[in-house]
Amino acid sequence: MPAPDAFDVVVIGGGPGGYTAAIRAAQLGLRAALVEKEEKLGGICLNWGCIPTKALLKQAELYRLFQRAGEFGFTVGQVGFDWKKVVQRSRQVAERLHQGVEYLMKKNKVEVVRGRGRLAQGPKVEVRDSKGEVARTLAARHVVLATGSRPQTLPGVQLDGAQAITSREAMVLEQLPQSLAIIGAGAIGVEFAYFFNAFGTQVTLLEALPQILPREDEEVAGLLTKSLAKQGVQIAAGVQVCSVKAGAKGVEVQYRGKDGEVVLKAEKVLMAVGVVGNTEELGLETLGVKTVKGAVEVNDRQETNVKGICAIGDVAGPPQLAHVAAAEGVAAVDFIAGHQRAPLDRTSIPFCTYCQPQVASMGLSEAQAKKAGHQVKVGRFPFSASGKALAAGESEGLVKLVFDAKYGELLGASIIGAEATELIAELGLARHLEATYEELLHTMHAHPTLSEGVMEAAGEAFGLALNL
Ligand code: NAD
Repeated sequence: MPAPDAFDVVVIGGGPGGYTAAIRAAQLGLRAALVEKEEKLGGICLNWGCIPTKALLKQAELYRLFQRAGEFGFTVGQVGFDWKKVVQRSRQVAERLHQGVEYLMKKNKVEVVRGRGRLAQGPKVEVRDSKGEVARTLAARHVVLATGSRPQTLPGVQLDGAQAITSREAMVLEQLPQSLAIIGAGAIGVEFAYFFNAFGTQVTLLEALPQILPREDEEVAGLLTKSLAKQGVQIAAGVQVCSVKAGAKGVEVQYRGKDGEVVLKAEKVLMAVGVVGNTEELGLETLGVKTVKGAVEVNDRQETNVKGICAIGDVAGPPQLAHVAAAEGVAAVDFIAGHQRAPLDRTSIPFCTYCQPQVASMGLSEAQAKKAGHQVKVGRFPFSASGKALAAGESEGLVKLVFDAKYGELLGASIIGAEATELIAELGLARHLEATYEELLHTMHAHPTLSEGVMEAAGEAFGLALNL
């Protein structure tokens, strides 16, 4: 019988990476503990990120759709909303899921230990209570660090949680702001710009790089810029934010763009300039665990430089996405258990932004493929040519596929439009299996579906589209 405080795997952090790693460990017959400092399991994603924001975004999408009721032949009165209920629903969704994670821990016999975990020699994990006292010491054959990340701010900008806020405060605002400046047009900036604009806030989105969603295909980002601008979002890309002043009466953001200096006044400012790993107070220095650029350094088996210590998810560096964290959690534990498996395939990671139109991509963009030395063939299929898209009233956007010209292998995909975040899964599988345009073209896609756009775009790249 092992000692009660001796585990094969101790995971620090109960977000999607950590709790998935703990479940995987239990599945493989390892004795696992999950240390979590917050009352609720599920981490940022489940409580303050992916899930509640997807609830809010769905509500924004519906609100906009109700406004289009006439287009579908409906006569409805003035469509309104109760802001408190809009926010409340997103909290209920998060609440339900966090209870689901508690259930999964019990089902898999993972011991959940409440408190702040810190590495100690052994390796061991000291778990401290809210007073900072060591409440338990867990002996661990392996430790998986899964402590996630937190929002960054700009130098000299204090976030007061009232006027100058992060996404966490933005998703539970008591009142809808009249105006909002958003700094940073990555996934958070763009999703919140869409959300608040849909409910009537005057939104200005500021981005330092030349395009919004800088990691996305330039053409797709351009289409999204046009679409959001048409919806009413003010967008300024390629700007330099010089100062942010927040006071009780609102905020002033001073920035420099192509037309010179601008002072933007708004009720609030939302900081969405990226995240930094939670590497502090973890005892990394005690064991000599190396960090690089604010993240724990790992190899392709998620191992740190110290034997027995792994790191997964946001704390192990970009891309900081929940599905990456979960996949890294499974991989780390598989390697711990001596499972024969390949390291993660990072060439087909999906990137999704849940504004409307949605944006999703995987693999190389056209520019990246060319830069990597590929001769490319590019296929496009606009949803305006899709029967299903027209029937659904969702004809905006396109599927864009990038192939290697020589062998026809799929290198990357970018989709903008309705359900893009669902459609991208097929392309991830195709890339993982090193599929060519022929496999995509010869796979029957149900008619009518939006997914036919994938098949058609594959055909279009090689002059074989049938419905264009
Ligand atoms: P991000 O890194 O994706 O985007 C930050 C943006 O801020 C970048 O476009 C960057 O160029 C810009 N920026 C940086 N400094 C700036 C400045 N001084 N002025 C103007 N712009 C500036 O980070 P995020 O959007 O804050 O999201 C945090 C993390 O959470 C990311 O890893 C993101 O992928 C993840 N996330 C993912 C989703 C999703 O998958 N749908 C949703 C939300 C968050």
